[in-house]
Amino acid sequence: MTAARSLDMPSLDTATIGIIRAEDEHVAHNYHPLPVVITRGEGVWVTDVEGKRYLDLLSAYSAVNFGHSHPALLAVAQEQLQRLTLTSRAFHNDKLGLFATALADLAGKELVLPMNTGAEAVETGIKVARAWGYRVKRIAPDAATIVVANGNFHGRTTTIVGFSDDPSAHDDFGPYAPGFVSVPFGDIAAIEAAIDENTAAVLIEPIQGEAGIIIPPEGYLRAVREICTKHGVLFIADEIQAGLGRTGETFACDLEGVVPDMYLLGKALGGGILPLSAVVADRDVLGVIRPGEHGSTFGGNPLAAAVGERVVAMLSTGEIQERTRLLGEHLAARLEGLIGQGVTAVRCVGLWAGVDIDPAVGTGREVAERLVARGVLVKDTHGQTIRIAPPLVIRATEIDWAIEQLQVVLAG
Ligand SMILES: *Cc1c(COP(=O)(O)O)cnc(C)c1O
Repeated sequence: MTAARSLDMPSLDTATIGIIRAEDEHVAHNYHPLPVVITRGEGVWVTDVEGKRYLDLLSAYSAVNFGHSHPALLAVAQEQLQRLTLTSRAFHNDKLGLFATALADLAGKELVLPMNTGAEAVETGIKVARAWGYRVKRIAPDAATIVVANGNFHGRTTTIVGFSDDPSAHDDFGPYAPGFVSVPFGDIAAIEAAIDENTAAVLIEPIQGEAGIIIPPEGYLRAVREICTKHGVLFIADEIQAGLGRTGETFACDLEGVVPDMYLLGKALGGGILPLSAVVADRDVLGVIRPGEHGSTFGGNPLAAAVGERVVAMLSTGEIQERTRLLGEHLAARLEGLIGQGVTAVRCVGLWAGVDIDPAVGTGREVAERLVARGVLVKDTHGQTIRIAPPLVIRATEIDWAIEQLQVVLAG
């Protein structure tokens, strides 16, 4: 008999408890959800099965950057649903090329390789980097390495968790794939020291999301770019969480005016409607992949491509990014005002913040649970941190309201 592990909150009604019990009974316990059962979403607000409304300050880890049920995205999806949803890449469809053209243009690159989930984009990036290493750089067979950063989060596949230093992601899932060298995040000398003639790529998140919105020292991304260029190594930026508007720039690398060799995109690319990820790079890199060497049954499907093209169109004007920058300054100012009042540190970039909770107040999880009771949804990460990542369509007044709720919770 499974324990209903989410039911550690009072004040849930019987319908809610029943739904959570059923889920706990038959869904593998690979997550520990907060005790709220959501049935509807519109913009920055979601509604639970009891009719209570919550401000969503997580956005499905940035997958819902444009808000729930965005009318323009829904319209595109509905239109495409009735026309054509899946062909496989055995045939052409009339949406993939449009999506790829728009995305390549947004990124200033030549080619797009479409996949579904973020982890698949990372796996694709790894394969492309290795193939490039052997076929272009002429690394000895099976000797290619990729430099990664401590504290990374790139997904959950067996290869990826092998170079994670988070025990819950990593332990007991070996044997691990060789070929990765991990160095401290933000330490440029360590990257340079790790590079040798067998290095195909440096793979980093420009800002580490899952680790708690860890922003590297100023100049780090520029230095990574320079070192990669100097040593003939590909710079792969995992922008799956940081990219597509979240930081107030189209890509987090734009914060330092840096262009990586490969962008890995996902999450928000699917408009919060379906999974859509992509690797975006120039022909001299992504062109190494030949027919049959890589793919996915669902990757590049017309439904996802239609939604993705609209997402890219929405980002192409820069308005969302500009708004995110301005509101991000507001969010940062409000959060910084909480330091010393139950908060020990705040890291904020765009509409994305890691807020470290004073252990005297409780854990991140406890604060998140108390916020649920006050109508605000956030997610804890690594014990004492809560992550704030609202849909980018949030208003200043809504930010202020959320901060008030947080203030109440922190005051105990
Ligand atoms: C979420 C995430 C991934 C994995 O994406 P999935 O769609 O969950 O597979 C990879 N990299 C980063 C930086 C992420 O935040």
